[in-house]
Amino acid sequence: MSDIVITNARIFDASGDHPFSGEVHIEGNRITQVRRGGASGAQARQTIDAAGAFLMPGMTEAHTHFAWNDQPNLSSIQMMPPEEHILWCVRVAKRYLDMGWTSCVGAATAKPRLDVVTRNAINAGEFPGPRYLAASQEITVQGGLGDETRPHLPFEELSFGTVVSGPEEMRRAVRQFIKYGVDSVKLNLSGEYIAGIPAEFTPFSDEEVAMCVREAKRFGKRVAAHARSAESVKQCVRHGIEVIYHASFADEEALDMLEANKDKHFVAPGLAWLINTSYHAAEWGITPEVAEQMGYHRELEIAIETMKRLHRRGIKILPGGDYGFAWVRHGTNAKDLEYFMKYVGMSATDALLSATREGGKIMMRPHELGQIRPGFLADLLLIDGDPLADISVLQKPERILAVMKDGQFHKSPAVTETRGGGRPY
Ligand SMILES: [Zn+2]
Repeated sequence: MSDIVITNARIFDASGDHPFSGEVHIEGNRITQVRRGGASGAQARQTIDAAGAFLMPGMTEAHTHFAWNDQPNLSSIQMMPPEEHILWCVRVAKRYLDMGWTSCVGAATAKPRLDVVTRNAINAGEFPGPRYLAASQEITVQGGLGDETRPHLPFEELSFGTVVSGPEEMRRAVRQFIKYGVDSVKLNLSGEYIAGIPAEFTPFSDEEVAMCVREAKRFGKRVAAHARSAESVKQCVRHGIEVIYHASFADEEALDMLEANKDKHFVAPGLAWLINTSYHAAEWGITPEVAEQMGYHRELEIAIETMKRLHRRGIKILPGGDYGFAWVRHGTNAKDLEYFMKYVGMSATDALLSATREGGKIMMRPHELGQIRPGFLADLLLIDGDPLADISVLQKPERILAVMKDGQFHKSPAVTETRGGGRPY
């Protein structure tokens, strides 16, 4: 007998097929059966009548910073003391799960072990949160994004990044983070306007990047990069950095390189950051005029064109990116899917697949995560409405009727019917 049967659902299985009506059987933490058609009447400990609601795989956020604390600038991230900071991370992790993100790829954290400790606590069942790949701090070089030291305040602790110079210091930093237990190492290969560093600035030497990747791979770890400039995207492809964040200024040569390696690389553009910093941050002093002066309007325009070209060339584009600032708050991440349709030219099906099936790939578990198929992990969302007709329903907490991770309801559907084997005593 199954533990749970969700019947009478409209199933988007993320195989690429159209949704169909049917039911899904779950035993333990796995999907055991996906049936097309009406209710089978199969016995289960718990049967849930979905009443035609939309059943889809849990979503994956490809560029998550639990440690970013919804503040209006970069330096406030690091000013939060460690004790408050870990509690913050734990609370934010729950927000993601509440909003249907059952998996998240950590993109960088602000203190050495925040991500690792959060991941471990989630895995131990101490706190609710998504499946999580823990990241390192951002590794940068002097004057790069993440170096917050000042000539008169040369204290490394001021920075949310860790600053290295030369291959040997890089080797040491990478090994340190691996010792702490990270799943991936993050490099800040390009600048960022809000930090006063042009997006097209590419400060790392190839020797430093090569050392990072070589050391990380030697320990079986992955590397991810903040890479807005064309040259930084090329560094990613040249050195085998799979996860590329932003890629706004990727030129023809960078696109060709990515396309030739498209099975290997993931791009998470983080359009929400560019759009909202450009036009919706006035309350925090970044009026559209200020944002334009910084360079964000130009970057947004170019990034949209670049993403269209990436999508046409079949390069994987995933949702997520730099949520965790005052004007792009944690939990509103499904905005990315709306932006993919509006600006990148994705169909609703493409947008949903980018958050589900492609998410299973970036989580490095394509054989068991991101689709509704027998044998796959039971990470499921029950949605009131049809995201294929109106993708914005995924942004509304009240429309997310149920969230299941690993066969357990994090949010239970309101209407359930228990029958069959019931209680064992
Ligand atoms: Zn980021």
